[in-house]
Amino acid sequence: MSLKRKWPNREKENPKSESDLYTQLKSEIQMVRGQGEPPQKNPLTFSQYLCDLCSTSHTISALKQCAVCGRWACPDCWTDAYYVCDSCGGIIALKSIKL
Ligand SMILES: [Zn+2]
Ligand SMILES: [Zn+2]
Repeated sequence: MSLKRKWPNREKENPKSESDLYTQLKSEIQMVRGQGEPPQKNPLTFSQYLCDLCSTSHTISALKQCAVCGRWACPDCWTDAYYVCDSCGGIIALKSIKL
């Protein structure tokens, strides 16, 4: 007796969407923090938070969360052109040269 099983063909759900750079980046860059996760508090102060890239402390309003890796970046570590941190911005810049 043999059991014949048909495996469901579910591999069609992954069409190429290379146009979406963010989706592409998210698959390549490891998330450091989840979206909506707060930045790290500076233990020495009450209202300051640490930049995930250079570890300087800033007020919460000065930090922005990177949409790709989830790091919190201060204005010095932020790439406004892509709305990501400098780390991811560098990768995007490299990719845009290639594309
Ligand atoms: Zn910084
Ligand atoms: Zn980033």
